[in-house]
Amino acid sequence: MDIVFNCPNCEQELAVDSAGAGTDIECPECHETITIPLPPVKNPAPPAEAAPAPSLAASVISSSAAAKIERHLKVPVGDKPTAVLIAKTNPPLGARKTSGEKRIRIHTIKHASCIESGHDKFDQKVTEFLNEIGEANMVGVHTISYTYFDVGTQKILNDYGVVILYRG
Ligand SMILES: [Zn+2]
Repeated sequence: MDIVFNCPNCEQELAVDSAGAGTDIECPECHETITIPLPPVKNPAPPAEAAPAPSLAASVISSSAAAKIERHLKVPVGDKPTAVLIAKTNPPLGARKTSGEKRIRIHTIKHASCIESGHDKFDQKVTEFLNEIGEANMVGVHTISYTYFDVGTQKILNDYGVVILYRG
């Protein structure tokens, strides 16, 4: 297999056996010492462009190296969102710390204990308590049902109530 190329000096088309690739020869036309290009560079383009070709290859290598560096840089870039996520999880932790003086508490209001002089003051008492803690400190209100022994009727009765979770 022959390498066909042009003399960089006189542009004479030359055909050399591929075994001589990379070696210096004397151009039979202009007697200039020229380097036989490697088989992949056997394009008929003038060797003047063969010089930019390796530099292009070098730029490809450097660009691929840059791409590799970019990938390496992308890893820290990928770490940044993680750091942001950590930073995002921090404010709630900080919020918990700042509200550290306020602890989660529960307050149970049983319906039976809100009967005063025969008047059902359950709703009123729950409302009063909710207003007391304030909406901002409200965590949740859960209904409960319970049984109790009613002394008056001597019966076990079912009743209901609420458990209020709040910060206070
Ligand atoms: Zn020549």
